[in-house]
Amino acid sequence: MLRDLIKESKAVERALAGEELSYNDGLELMKDENLFLVGASADFVRKKLVGEKVTFAASYYMNYTNVCAASCQMCAFYRKGDESDAYTLTPEQIEKRVAIAKQMGATEVHIVGGFHPKLQLDYYENMMRIIKKNHPEMSIKAFTAAEIFYLSKLTKNSVKEILSRLKDAGLDSMPGGGAELFHPEVRAQIVRGKCTGQEWLDTIEQAHKLGIKSNVTMLYGHIEKPEHVIDHLVKIRELQKKTGGFITFIPLKFSLDNTELEQQHKVEHECSSIYDLKIIATSRLMLAGVLNNISVYWVAFGKKLAQVALSNGGSDLVGTAFSEEIYKAAGKPTNSSVLELATMVKEIGRKPVQRDTFFKEIRSF
Ligand code: SF4
Repeated sequence: MLRDLIKESKAVERALAGEELSYNDGLELMKDENLFLVGASADFVRKKLVGEKVTFAASYYMNYTNVCAASCQMCAFYRKGDESDAYTLTPEQIEKRVAIAKQMGATEVHIVGGFHPKLQLDYYENMMRIIKKNHPEMSIKAFTAAEIFYLSKLTKNSVKEILSRLKDAGLDSMPGGGAELFHPEVRAQIVRGKCTGQEWLDTIEQAHKLGIKSNVTMLYGHIEKPEHVIDHLVKIRELQKKTGGFITFIPLKFSLDNTELEQQHKVEHECSSIYDLKIIATSRLMLAGVLNNISVYWVAFGKKLAQVALSNGGSDLVGTAFSEEIYKAAGKPTNSSVLELATMVKEIGRKPVQRDTFFKEIRSF
């Protein structure tokens, strides 16, 4: 019976044979109502490509400012500079938080922020330098391609110049945020004041050329259609073939609360778990053989759905997502989050592995 089902889907048949899927194959997967078939195929391909390990990093998340010159319709985070809860951390405050991250066992800090209209390049360079000087072993993953592009426009320096100077100051890698969805049709309705999809791709290509590897994300579950998802995946695949600079692909589920998209009733509810799983499975099959790390962002999914997503093509859990707030609120022993993730992986019969930013294995459990 399963064989008959596979024969009904050319895309699944081709994926299981190890062929690269076309744009139309991707659409077929997204529109296939049989999630079981697509998910099981993605799980099969995952097993073939990366085996039974499920990786995660001990990461500390930090936002250096919530002040932003943009006003994206999908964002609940940004503030204008004169709002009472607007904040900007000094490089010294950031360094102190990195010291906390170290105590918590983090091996990387993930630092992003809004497009601050007054901060100049020396602020970012100082941030890198003060972290590296005090914590040379900490891997710095900072600034999305969208932030770099904005900084280049603000300071009238080329993207190459900005990235080279930040790399010299200590930047090790870049997160994958700001990619959202590249397709202009949908991008224009979810971001305002942010670079275009092509500008994001050009910026990250420049980073890769300078030896700065990065992650790449996709914001889904709002107003997009299957065509936009597949367009995004194909563009990632093409760039990865050119640079090899993407470390992992992280689909990000759109969170509705307090966004303009919610207030204007453009999106009434968050997407279903079925759609989440379809995204993970399709991503695995579309990127197979080119970008083999497919991350499940468990913070957005919750741990139970994350476990299911790992059985539908996912092979990485991103990380512990420590933050100052979690640290203060929970007062948890540092390693408990790492152990919780390891337990989550063991519960589904897979092998937990703590990794560094670049997927080098640190320890297994
Ligand atoms: S660029 Fe857009 S998504 Fe990023 S902080 Fe500013 S408003 Fe939010």
